[in-house]
Amino acid sequence: MTSVDSSKHTKAKALKPGSRRPAKELCSECGLCDTYYIHYVKEACAFINQQIDTLETQSHSRSRNLDNPNELYFGVHQEMMAAKKQQPIEGAQWTGIVSSIAIEMLNRGLVEGVVCVQNTKEDRFQPMPVIARTPEEILAARVNKPTLSPNLSILEQVEKSGMKRLLVIGVGCQIQALRAVEKQLGLEKLYVLGTPCVDNVTRAGLQKFLETTSRSPDTVVHYEFMQDFRIHFRHEDGSIEKVPFFGLKTNQLKDVFAPSCMSCFDYVNSLADLVVGYMGAPFGWQWIVVRNETGKEMLDLVKDQIDTQPVTSQGNRKEAVQQGIPAYDKGVTLPMWVAKMMGVVIDKIGPKGLEYARFSIDSHFTRNYLYVKRNHGEKLEAHVPEYAKRIVGQYKLPD
Ligand code: FAD
Ligand code: SF4
Repeated sequence: MTSVDSSKHTKAKALKPGSRRPAKELCSECGLCDTYYIHYVKEACAFINQQIDTLETQSHSRSRNLDNPNELYFGVHQEMMAAKKQQPIEGAQWTGIVSSIAIEMLNRGLVEGVVCVQNTKEDRFQPMPVIARTPEEILAARVNKPTLSPNLSILEQVEKSGMKRLLVIGVGCQIQALRAVEKQLGLEKLYVLGTPCVDNVTRAGLQKFLETTSRSPDTVVHYEFMQDFRIHFRHEDGSIEKVPFFGLKTNQLKDVFAPSCMSCFDYVNSLADLVVGYMGAPFGWQWIVVRNETGKEMLDLVKDQIDTQPVTSQGNRKEAVQQGIPAYDKGVTLPMWVAKMMGVVIDKIGPKGLEYARFSIDSHFTRNYLYVKRNHGEKLEAHVPEYAKRIVGQYKLPD
C-alpha cells in the first residue's frame, strides 16, 4: 500500500496515555497514536504495515538496488563518508553533526521548526519531544535518549501551528510512520534527518540494563556500543567505563530490549534524506549517508564546519556473526576476563569501517529474524523486507 489518502483525520481521537496500542506489544511508542493521525495507523505503523520499498520510492524516487552490495545493506544513497566536527559540540552524542545541521537550517530560515527530543527536568533519560524554534532549544536536545521516544506525538501541534517548513530528527520507526502521513501535514517542505537505531529499551528496561552492566548506574550520563566491541559509559565525573560486548549478561538482558526493536529491520533509517551515525566510520568519526538531493542540501550547510574522509572497509565479519548466533540464542555469558581478551583480539583483527557496520547489521538482523519467527511467525513473510531476507539468508540459523 502507498502513503495514505487525504481524509478527515482531525476528527479521529488520540489514544489515552498508557492504553494498548494497535501494534500491541510490538509498539515502539513512536507517538503517532498520541495524535489524531492515529486515523492512518493501519497503513502507517512500521510494525503493522512494513512498506519500506514503497516509501523509498516516494522519498528517494526509487527503491534500493538489491544487487548493489552497499545499497543492500545501507539503503538508497548518493554518497557515504566519514566526518567529524572541527569543533565538537560539548555534550553531544558524538561530535554534534546532527545538532549543527538543525541549527544551520533554522538560522538560515530553511525551516520554521525542528522536531527533536529533549529530556525532562527530573530524569536525563526520560524523553520529551519538542518543536524547537531556537538554536538553544535544539542544543538542549543533543545527546541520545536511549529509550523509546514518542517523537511524533507533537504532529498535531505542527499542523495547528500553521508551520510550512519543518525538519524532523528521528529514528527509523518514527520516520517510517512520518513518511506515510507526510502528505497530510499541510507542509510545503519536510526535511528528514535520521540516525541509525538499534536495541532500544523502555525507561524501565534502561534501568535494568544500566544496573546489570555498569559499575555505577546512577552516574551514567551517556553511553554507546562502540566499534572496539565495548560499551563506553561516560559518568558524571567525566570518567569512562568500558565493558566488553562479549561479557554482557545476555541471560539477564534477553528480555530487556523492546519487542519493537527485536522486530526491526530498519537499522539504517532507510527513509531519511540524510543519516548521521557512527558505525561505518573509524573510531571517533561519524558516518554519513546522503540518500537524496534534499540530504545533500542539508549536509552542504555544515561542510565548512566538518572534516571528511572516504569510508573504508577491512576484515571479514562472517565467522564472528555466525558464531555469535547460537551464543546469543542460548544466553551465554562469558567470564569477564575471557570477554576482555576476546574483545582485544577481535578489535585487532576484526571488521572495521563498513565491514563493522555489516557485522552489526548481520548480528541484529539474524537475531531479530529468529525473534519474529518464534514470537510472531504469522507476520514473518510480510514484515521482513526483501533486503533483510537476503542478508539473513547468508547464515545458518537454529530452528
Ligand atoms: P547530537 O548532536 O548529540 O544530536 C542527537 C539527536 O538525536 C538530537 O537531535 C535528538 O533529538 C535525537 N534523539 C536522541 N534520542 C532520540 C531517540 N530516542 N529517538 C529519536 N531521536 C533521538 N548509530 C550507529 O551508527 N549505530 C548504532 O547502533 C546506533 N544506535 C543508536 C541507538 C539509539 C537509541 C539512538 C537514539 C541513536 C543510535 N545511533 C547509532 C546514532 C548515534 O548514536 C548518534 O545519535 C548519531 O551519530 C548523532 O550523533 P551527534 O553527535 O551528531 O548527535
Ligand atoms: Fe501507534 Fe507508533 Fe505504536 Fe505503531 S509504533 S502502534 S504507529 S504508537
